[in-house]
Order: sequence, then structure tokens, then C-alpha cells
Amino acid sequence: MPSIADNLAAVHGRIAQAALAAQRDPASIELLAVSKTFPADDVRTAFAAGQRAFGENYVQESIVKIEALADLRAQIEWHFIGPLQSNKTRPVAEHFDWVQSVDRLKIAQRLSEQRPPNLAPLNVCLQVNVSGEASKSGVAPSDAPTLAKEIAAMPGLVLRGLMSIPEPTDDVDAQRAQHRTLRALFDALRADGLAIDTLSMGMSADLEAAVLEGATIVRIGSAIFGARDYSR
Ligand SMILES: *Cc1c(COP(=O)(O)O)cnc(C)c1O
Repeated sequence: MPSIADNLAAVHGRIAQAALAAQRDPASIELLAVSKTFPADDVRTAFAAGQRAFGENYVQESIVKIEALADLRAQIEWHFIGPLQSNKTRPVAEHFDWVQSVDRLKIAQRLSEQRPPNLAPLNVCLQVNVSGEASKSGVAPSDAPTLAKEIAAMPGLVLRGLMSIPEPTDDVDAQRAQHRTLRALFDALRADGLAIDTLSMGMSADLEAAVLEGATIVRIGSAIFGARDYSR
């Protein structure tokens, strides 16, 4: 079985190939290793192989993991990427460097108020529902500009950009079309004066399509850590 270090090398290879095809600098694409459901020891292994940014989805699981890895805290960038309920914002505001899954005003307000003043403002992305599926979290593209401006004015937050989880499909053209929707919104917000620099899109199955459409962060879980077992 390939090791986590082998998998990381393979994912960096995929990013480099896609960047070449897109005529982009591979260094302009950050790899976020999504460690949800995997133990702290796997994060340590990935860290030893050079990985520094990790993504988590579940509040309780992630806080236990961040605390177990306290010795590495200053060197790791922790991104919260899961659905967030308003009664669980405080530990996220206190422990994470980024929240990519902000999709409503109330969550943003609470994160801003609860961000400890001794820490740098929390980096946030607005999660956008590009596929329009009713079951998906994320703000509708048409509501994104208003929410983005409200968040940009909050003292405890820095609005960095947009994130999306597209509808899964094997069709690369369909993958690219969804990523293009997010990219167009990103360009429109920038043209409107928002100083954002982050387009978080692309997972294990659609990394290449996301890089071709301008992703600056790709969020990769199973291609690094293996298949997830939710029964654990
Ligand atoms: C789980 C998850 C990922 C990683 O998905 P893989 O298909 O395992 O790469 C990326 N983004 C979000 C928001 C996730 O919840």
C-alpha cells in the first residue's frame, strides 16, 4: 500500500501537471490535506513529509486533534471546511486559522465576535452553492455579493475568497463548468472592489479541472489518507 508520503508526492505531481497544462505556476496552488476521520498520527506523518495545511469538517473531532498536535500548532495552518452550526462557532473561532464554509451572516457575526483578540483575524471563505442542489450548503451565487461585503467589514474576520463543493460527476467538462461559475463570481467580486485572493475548489476527483479553472487551494482527502471509514 502506498504511504501517506507517496500519496502526497503523487498529488503534488498531479498539481504540477495540471498547472503546466493551465500555464500556471504550481506554487500558486496550495494543497490543503483534508484529515477528517483520520487520526492525529496520520497528520503527524503528513507533517513529517512536509505538509503544513490541514482541513477538518467536524468540530469535536478537530479540536481533539488540534490539541493532540499542540506541539506542531505554530507550524500548522488549520482550515475548518465543514458545515457549521451557530452553537458551535466558539471553539472554531478559538482554534482555527481559516474557516472556508461560511454561508450565512449569523455564523460570520459569531465567528467575528468570538475570535480571541490576541489572535490574528480569522481568514474566511464564503461557501457558494454552485450546483444549485437543494441539499448542499452554501450561499446562492446571487446572494454572495451582499454577504461578501458584510463579512469584509467584520473586525474579527478577513474575507479571503470563495469555496465550493460541486455536484460530483466524472465528466470533466461538467466539472469545469461548475468551477467556472465560482471563478466568474470571484472575478466579479474583485471587479467590485473586494480584495480577495482565494479560490478554494477541487477535491481528489476533480483537482485537474479546478486547477485549469483557476483554483488557488485544492482540498484533498482520500488521495492522501485513503478511503474514509465513517464507522470509526
Ligand atoms: C471531505 C472533503 C474534501 C476532501 O474530499 P476527497 O474527495 O476525499 O478529496 C474536500 N472538501 C470538503 C469540503 C470536504 O468535506
